[in-house]
Amino acid sequence: MLPGPIRSVESDVLIIGGGLAGLAAALEAVRTVPRVTVLCKRKSGMSGNTLVSGGGFAAFLPGGDDSCERYVQDTMESGKGMNDRTLVEILARQSAPAIERLEGWGVKFMRLNGEFMSKHAPGHSCPRSLYCEFGPREQTIRGLAVLRPLRDRVSQAGARLMDHVAVIQLVKKDDRVIGALGIDLAQEELIYFSAQAVILAAGGAGRLFSRNNNSAEITGDAFSLALNAGVPLRDMEFVQFYPTMLHDPVKLTLSNTLFGDGAVLRNALGEKFMVKYAPQDADMATRDQMCQAIFGEIGAKRAVADQVYLDCTGIPAPALERSHRRLKQYLEQHGVDMQKDWLPVSPAAHFSMGGIRINACCETSLEGLYAAGECAGGVHGANRLATNALTEAVVFGSIAGERAASFAAKAGNLKVPPPRIVWPDGGTGKETCAEIRNFLCKTMWENASIIRSKESLSRAWENIRHCRERLSRRGCAGFRDWAKYLELKGMCQVAEAVVRAALCREESRGSHFREDFPRENTRWIGSVEVAMMEEHNFRVDFRPSHGFYR
Ligand SMILES: Cc1cc2nc3c(=O)[nH]c(=O)nc-3n(C[C@H](O)[C@H](O)[C@H](O)COP(=O)(O)OP(=O)(O)OC[C@H]3O[C@@H](n4cnc5c(N)ncnc54)[C@H](O)[C@@H]3O)c2cc1C
Repeated sequence: MLPGPIRSVESDVLIIGGGLAGLAAALEAVRTVPRVTVLCKRKSGMSGNTLVSGGGFAAFLPGGDDSCERYVQDTMESGKGMNDRTLVEILARQSAPAIERLEGWGVKFMRLNGEFMSKHAPGHSCPRSLYCEFGPREQTIRGLAVLRPLRDRVSQAGARLMDHVAVIQLVKKDDRVIGALGIDLAQEELIYFSAQAVILAAGGAGRLFSRNNNSAEITGDAFSLALNAGVPLRDMEFVQFYPTMLHDPVKLTLSNTLFGDGAVLRNALGEKFMVKYAPQDADMATRDQMCQAIFGEIGAKRAVADQVYLDCTGIPAPALERSHRRLKQYLEQHGVDMQKDWLPVSPAAHFSMGGIRINACCETSLEGLYAAGECAGGVHGANRLATNALTEAVVFGSIAGERAASFAAKAGNLKVPPPRIVWPDGGTGKETCAEIRNFLCKTMWENASIIRSKESLSRAWENIRHCRERLSRRGCAGFRDWAKYLELKGMCQVAEAVVRAALCREESRGSHFREDFPRENTRWIGSVEVAMMEEHNFRVDFRPSHGFYR
């Protein structure tokens, strides 16, 4: 059945995603072109991983011990040299101007005696993480401190914000993107958004794994939209897991900067175990090392119910008061005393290092299509450093906005009628999307998360195929159901991209640990690229890198 007549909305620049990258892109684009539209599956400025983030931005601020080169080096070290160095240099160079821009847009950063308060996060060789000021009730939505002023600015600047619109397909003419199709979830209608240029800023794919700390709608849509438009993804095997997720008495991601102030991990026997796994850095090791160490302790039965302890009792009271006062108060409200109690923590899927291949201008392989923020790959390599993602979102969001707008200003208007689209209403399968999705996410956690092998990844691949078949037997009853169906179909494709890339890389590097290939191997210096030739027919290529930094 055809889903009825399609309403059209025209724009110069169409932005898919209302998180930090999308809003930063909009603020740049409106400076050049008049018609900028931001589409968001939930509500722009109230969604995505930016909302639940800790509000920490890494930045090299001139005048201290830090340097641009040192920041680049730290990021490359953490990424095990898999990063695109050009993108990393842009990140480092543009980090201070990005903070200045954010302040200009009304974002407030924590300061001490008028100076930025800079924290030392694991993996960075010096303190360079700045944090936003957030309100007393915003412990679990600290990103609001960034998003609220940006959303206000974007509306004041005249961009059109369309909330509760899930983009389901990019529309192409020949080798150029000319818009997108979206389902308005509130009005229950299909809309054709035509545009001169399109920016993908729809975030990562943490929700692919049953244990994660991502916002509910972060299901990898940008990746499946790109795959279905023939745009390749890189480094999809590199998924970051966050080591210190508290589940009880509240669900909360506990900041890595606690380690910089003296917190340590302990196993069920009370032993500090990080020194065994990372003798040099111990509790200042990177997230990948911490997660693998925790899984090591779980495997050796030195954990309690798959959890270890975060012991903050060694943090000196002044440091706790200065840097973690709000967290301390929040936990106290839930009956936890950080100065006495050890906090039970375990890893959860956190961040997609891989993503859409972009160049320094955020251009993708498809003319007119740009990507920025977590959905773009290349900046972080095999493992992301703490607080580098928000800086990335604002730096590359701005670049994408500027470049897309200047492309749109020059590009000819391609008038193309809305594409015809058919929804699958003939299926007889009775399974709900939720049932199939739970199975998919459980399979990804159990077989393709922190510790992988050919056997576990092959099992994951087989189960993904099974999910796809189960889904194809289902019909759709209405627009919302159709949106859920397509979201899950996309999740199956993205899960397959992760698994196929992880199967391809027969070594361990950064966040990608293969117990059948437990060491780094120089043969694998380069990136694994995954593209979809036609539905479910993937091409997986290894592209050697010749500019390795070590
Ligand atoms: C718990 C947590 C804490 C973190 N803390 C930090 C930190 O302190 N510092 C740091 O640097 N990084 C942190 N990160 C990572 C960082 O928050 C993200 O990488 C970053 O916010 C991504 O920004 P983005 O704009 O690319 O995507 P997001 O903020 O995730 O925004 C994506 C947007 O796309 C929309 N969307 C998705 N699919 C569709 C679709 N099909 N159609 C339309 N819209 C769609 C979403 O609704 C959302 O508005 C944290 C992450 C988590 C999960």
